Amino acid sequence: MGVSGRERLERRVVEAAEAALAERKFVTPIDVLVGLGWLQPAHIDRWRQGRVDYLERTVQANLSKISTAMKAFRRWATGRGLQPSETAYLARTRDRRQLRFSTSGDPRVERGYRTHWVSSELSEAKRERLAERQSRPPDLVVVSPVREWTCTECGGTGDFLLMEDAGPICMSCADMAHLVFLPAGDAALTRRAKRRSRLSAVVVRFSRARKRYERQGILVEEEALERAEAECLADADARARRREREEERRARQDLDFQARMAREIGRLYPSCPPERSEAIARHAGARGSGRVGRSAAGRALDPEAIELAVVASVRHRDTRYDDLLMSGADRAEAREQVRPDVDRVLESWRRARG
Ligand SMILES: [Zn+2]
Repeated sequence: MGVSGRERLERRVVEAAEAALAERKFVTPIDVLVGLGWLQPAHIDRWRQGRVDYLERTVQANLSKISTAMKAFRRWATGRGLQPSETAYLARTRDRRQLRFSTSGDPRVERGYRTHWVSSELSEAKRERLAERQSRPPDLVVVSPVREWTCTECGGTGDFLLMEDAGPICMSCADMAHLVFLPAGDAALTRRAKRRSRLSAVVVRFSRARKRYERQGILVEEEALERAEAECLADADARARRREREEERRARQDLDFQARMAREIGRLYPSCPPERSEAIARHAGARGSGRVGRSAAGRALDPEAIELAVVASVRHRDTRYDDLLMSGADRAEAREQVRPDVDRVLESWRRARG
């Protein structure tokens, strides 16, 4: 590689690394290889599933270019003041063996690949949590095959296969036939079922459109799934009971409000019959009605808002207003026509009870 070619490559390495760092506050050699366009996510999946013996086999660049890129990456990371964090890469196979990156298998090269570089902006505690999470043994992976397949141990087949070094094996041969499939979609149920299950596996299927494996659900012990379902149901019941209690409380609040409003109407219109003031308050305060009693001013028992509610009631009940509307009269005109009647009723209600 010429000098300018190397400079160009180093620039691309820095760009890829900066992008990953900005997104997640840490960056890995794999991020760089993906960012350079040398490594496809589907290949990483296969390698993680233990179906490729070492990662460099699937990297689309020669060893000298890979080595140049990795050196540039470490130089950039050190210069950037990032913290190295060695991370375990375990296969998603039953033996959870250490994954191999390089053609040579050289321990120094392997360690270089395993080292993540973490932003020093992250606190010590966050860096530790991140390292712990990254090193955690991965979930077992079971494939929901797209094509027909044959178990390398018994010659049978099935809906799911586990990839072993010698080839795919069926759930019976994998001693996983007792597990049941829980499709993805209910996060709480999935989380609980997985926690309750001593043995579980993530089910993936290759998407031709997206060119990578996609999660379909999990395999768990039947008893674990049943217990998780019961827990989720209990939660749903608890939520329903809480909703009922809230509704009761709201209804009680409404009754309080209506009683206060009726009292206030009685104070402003002493001669208004009590059953009328109660009816007006009930009508104005009906939940979800958007009527005047539900407005902020109405809630605060503002006299103007109360007058509006009383006027509306008188208009409908004590005048020909509704008849006028029924006969097709214009609303403004109808209001104008019944105004003297409304005023008369209000006037009589304002008078102290005799
Ligand atoms: Zn088998």
